[in-house]
Amino acid sequence: MLIKGVEGKIIKDSRGDQTIEVSIKTDAGKFSASAPNGKSKGKYEAKPYIKSITKDIEALEKISDYFSEEYFEKFDDLMRLEDTVKGHIGANTLFAFESAVLKAISKEQKKEIWELINPNQRKFPRFVGNSIGGGLHSETAKKPDFQEFLLIPDTGSPHENFRVNLESKEKEKQILKAKDQKFSEKKNDENAWVTSLNEKEVLEILSELGIPFGIDAAASSFYKRKKYHYKNPQLDRTPEEQIMYMKNLLKNFSMLYVEDPFDEEDFESFAKLLKEFPNTLIVGDDLTVTNYKRLEKAIEMKSINALIVKPNQNGSLIEVSRVVELAKSKGIKTVFSHRSGETKEDIITDLAFGFGADFLKCGITGKEREVKIRRLIEIEKGLKKKN
Ligand code: PEP
Ligand code: MG
Repeated sequence: MLIKGVEGKIIKDSRGDQTIEVSIKTDAGKFSASAPNGKSKGKYEAKPYIKSITKDIEALEKISDYFSEEYFEKFDDLMRLEDTVKGHIGANTLFAFESAVLKAISKEQKKEIWELINPNQRKFPRFVGNSIGGGLHSETAKKPDFQEFLLIPDTGSPHENFRVNLESKEKEKQILKAKDQKFSEKKNDENAWVTSLNEKEVLEILSELGIPFGIDAAASSFYKRKKYHYKNPQLDRTPEEQIMYMKNLLKNFSMLYVEDPFDEEDFESFAKLLKEFPNTLIVGDDLTVTNYKRLEKAIEMKSINALIVKPNQNGSLIEVSRVVELAKSKGIKTVFSHRSGETKEDIITDLAFGFGADFLKCGITGKEREVKIRRLIEIEKGLKKKN
């Protein structure tokens, strides 16, 4: 496949913020892909754009005819692309560009995108679905301090897992109606229910549903001047008190999954929690930011046993594959993840499946989330037909 031209344009994400869509003209046709936007971003994420989105679009124009004589036929050919564009475009632009290239290769080779990564892949990631929200993703004054309350069904089938998540989210609505006087069926940035309850009250609700569940505390977002500043109820916790609190929550609620329970600098506290709860998934997101070096540190410090993989936190899909390989080689579970500001792009699902992710965190409802869920169900159906 030959790339004959590259261009970028600004589109809106699900939150109404600007993001980038990259289109390439190739001898196999025109292909486009877009990048999402985070809100509770990790401090160490790669920059989405070098200077600005418009400057990245100008940079794409400049490199537009650099590739006209280079053939792209397989995933690893992205390495050559990266050698050429490194330093000229930011992580969001690179991710969208590489995604468009993978779409073109897949079309030309009559293969699914995931097959370009691993044609023998058969393992389905489990959905991690944000069902009730708080923190930076919800705009109301009174809300849980934790950002996400996650449903993680385990039926063995993406289709069934999705059904369980939809039903459970409906059940939550009924329970919230009864328990939260302020509940108005409003949804937040990721289409999770907005509630005025606090995290313990929400965890009570999740425990009633009878399916595995967890949280993304996104604790960096409320850690300032050496304290965790809770608002519901108002209470400051020192790092030591935060560890105690997390341990107590894990003793009282049998959570499968705890993402970013501590500040993004605090590898030690993660390690202390993991040591006491080795059977819970202690997940790094802002801590590790899909970055090889930070993952190495987390491994060395024994901080995590599960890792969020957000391709646009890094930009380079070659790097993403190195990060995933490192995680797998150390028995660390991988959780491919959407961002809170999403587009209708569904390539994250092919990447998750192709790379053999253990989990796919992509919400439950809303068109930007559903396309990703439906893509996994489509892969499941396609494979059933084959067998
Ligand atoms: C997250 O913290 O897991 C998340 C999806 O948030 P954001 O996209 O806002 O960084
Ligand atoms: Mg997170």
